[in-house]
Amino acid sequence: MFAAPQFQAFNPPRRILMGPGPSDVHPQVLAAQARPAIGHLDPLFIGMMDELKQLIQYAFQTKNEMTIAVSAPGSAGMETCFVNLVEPGEKVIVCRNGVFGERMRQNVERTGGIAVVVDNVWGEPVSVTDVEAALIAHPDAKFLAFVHAETSTGALSDAQSLCALAKKHDCLSIVDAVTSLGGVELLVDEWGIDAIYSGSQKCLSCVPGLSPVSFSPAAVTKLKARKTPVQSWFLDQTLVMGYWSGEGKRSYHHTAPVNALYALHEALRLLAAEGLENAWQRHQQMHQLLRDGLQQLGLEFVVDEAYRLPQLNTVYIPQGIDDALVRKTLLEQYNLEIGAGLGDLAGKAWRIGLMGYAARRENVSLCLRALSDVLA
Ligand SMILES: *Cc1c(COP(=O)(O)O)cnc(C)c1O
Repeated sequence: MFAAPQFQAFNPPRRILMGPGPSDVHPQVLAAQARPAIGHLDPLFIGMMDELKQLIQYAFQTKNEMTIAVSAPGSAGMETCFVNLVEPGEKVIVCRNGVFGERMRQNVERTGGIAVVVDNVWGEPVSVTDVEAALIAHPDAKFLAFVHAETSTGALSDAQSLCALAKKHDCLSIVDAVTSLGGVELLVDEWGIDAIYSGSQKCLSCVPGLSPVSFSPAAVTKLKARKTPVQSWFLDQTLVMGYWSGEGKRSYHHTAPVNALYALHEALRLLAAEGLENAWQRHQQMHQLLRDGLQQLGLEFVVDEAYRLPQLNTVYIPQGIDDALVRKTLLEQYNLEIGAGLGDLAGKAWRIGLMGYAARRENVSLCLRALSDVLA
């Protein structure tokens, strides 16, 4: 027998999460998660799942039947889109203007697909012109994949134009909306997005670990016409749908993360009560307050105002300032977490998130006061 380890219960402090995610969880969402677990095929739970599906459809602004929350974080939503849709040998135009575009490329290659990468400078949106050139140069491409809101840089891409181009060139669009959903305008049906995934822990004020996804009827047709089975059993949407739909005859696929789904239901219910447009506006207003304060502190933005994400503010670290020490001091003395730079921007920039419940006036004030103290 090994000795039994004896520990205190884990009691995290109440931090203010203003990094690139996870972001602050709404107290009502935390409370929802603490409610009693019930069976995952309990009729009451299935009723809750049906409401949840409608709430996800609202958040995405879609009527897509194949709309669910994958029982795993945003990265699994990404994998769900690629592994279900891309078959070996198929060509995918992948836009790369940050860390997450590169992950899309890796996903394509792991499915056996051929990635044609369109590179962009970090901190800039995906170039619509370059994408059009790639679509013309590769008439055999089947998909166009891009990140709507690049969390590694803070740049917003023109999803509407990119999806219109994909359609014009007979490609299905695969869109990463992990950071955009709930934070900036996103209209899945109107923009003609075919496959989209998001995450619970960015602008939805929810706990981490779930990924809302949605497939258009065209994407479902492509999935059903596959010549080979989906390589991942767990993420195979044709199997998962038997669990998320069907009148009274839900079949067991996996045990849903029951309490986490209560949390997402509550988070999306709160989003619907606030109204999507109001939520987008709140993120923009809080961004403007933060921007004015950061500029007064002499901090410069990495991303141009024209395509800057309100929910993810990337600023250069001033000369002579110790990146790690500042973030450590903010965490230890102010209970405030901001994000480090990622990839090309590691050590060069901070990423200050204003996502979901974190996008509030008191957080903006705290962040500006704390940064002002620490930088002085
Ligand atoms: C956070 C993020 C992901 C990954 O989500 P996880 O929940 O961390 O797995 C994917 N894409 C973008 C743009 C993100 O910001």
